[in-house]
Amino acid sequence: MRTPHGPADADFTAAVAAIHRHAPAGRVLLVCHVNPDGDALGSMLGFGLGLRRMGVPALQATFPGDFEVPEPFTALPGLDLLVPGEQAYPEPDLVIVFDVAAVSRLGALADRLPRARATIVLDHHASNTGFGGVNLVDAGAAATSVVAEQLLARLGVPLDAEIAECLYVALATDTGSFRFDMTTPRVHEMAARLIATGIRPGEISRRIFDTRPFGATKLFAEVLGRAELDPAAAAGHGMVWTYATLEDLRRYGQRPYVMDALIDPVRCVAEADVAVLVKQTGEGEWAVSLRSKGAVDVSAVAVTFGGGGHRLAAGFTGHGAPGDVVVAVRERLDQHLI
Ligand code: 5GP
Ligand code: MN
Repeated sequence: MRTPHGPADADFTAAVAAIHRHAPAGRVLLVCHVNPDGDALGSMLGFGLGLRRMGVPALQATFPGDFEVPEPFTALPGLDLLVPGEQAYPEPDLVIVFDVAAVSRLGALADRLPRARATIVLDHHASNTGFGGVNLVDAGAAATSVVAEQLLARLGVPLDAEIAECLYVALATDTGSFRFDMTTPRVHEMAARLIATGIRPGEISRRIFDTRPFGATKLFAEVLGRAELDPAAAAGHGMVWTYATLEDLRRYGQRPYVMDALIDPVRCVAEADVAVLVKQTGEGEWAVSLRSKGAVDVSAVAVTFGGGGHRLAAGFTGHGAPGDVVVAVRERLDQHLI
């Protein structure tokens, strides 16, 4: 059982032992989820820099799918650890996985897990399937970087400004800039430790939250303009939804990652507990973002579609037309009222 205090001591001890066994002379591969966000990249690169400080000689970081780091994260320290998925060690000795709740989020890189001598998973999704050899999963943690900081401490790696910037970006991203419910005293204490290394929170926040190409602003206006409100959905708690296509992106000359911030103005709608953003990723394929203000466990809804996430923020891959995806979601909302 997971406790409110996080992974068991024995699991941390097992993770440290696996790192001490394989990292000094073996190939270490760090992997985070497809379409990486701030927590995925930040926890992975922050931890990777920690391993580098330990002198780990053969170290790579990667993620599946399009090998594109979203613009807000292109200044992260440790980016030189990244290699495209195709170049990742085919037979690593140790694989460490970050912010991944299920193997499906590892795409083509999932094959590295059975080939490795040891695997460690660092995560904070309640829906985590426990697919690692060692699973450091803390459903009470605001970000995977919380777990990463704890493991670094157990390895005796001190925080420096580069590691701290990565972990801070991760923490700030997953707490919505320290606004969400997961923003506990522990979160602020961790932020204090990170900021004490000399990093600049104002500058980092501007980069990751408050910078957007002009074309993205126009794209947001169009996508928000077609939003629909369904007050009767979710047993009367209401649902707001909209969608964005690859053609929309093309028209405004934007990269897919700009749509990651688009859920925020959608979820602000007062008349709806549930917000749904359907983002096209391919022919008839959509990345669906779900948010709730508290009435619905959207993670449970996402799981019924093969996805996952957290109670108030989750996602899955949908198929068909965006309207059909939303109708299917609407049908399940009532069954997962909290
Ligand atoms: P977002 O809507 O920001 O992409 O994702 C919100 C949350 O849902 C994140 O915690 C993310 O890990 C999770 N999530 C999003 N899409 C998927 C998916 O396709 N599968 C799983 N398992 N989780 C997802
Ligand atoms: Mn996360």
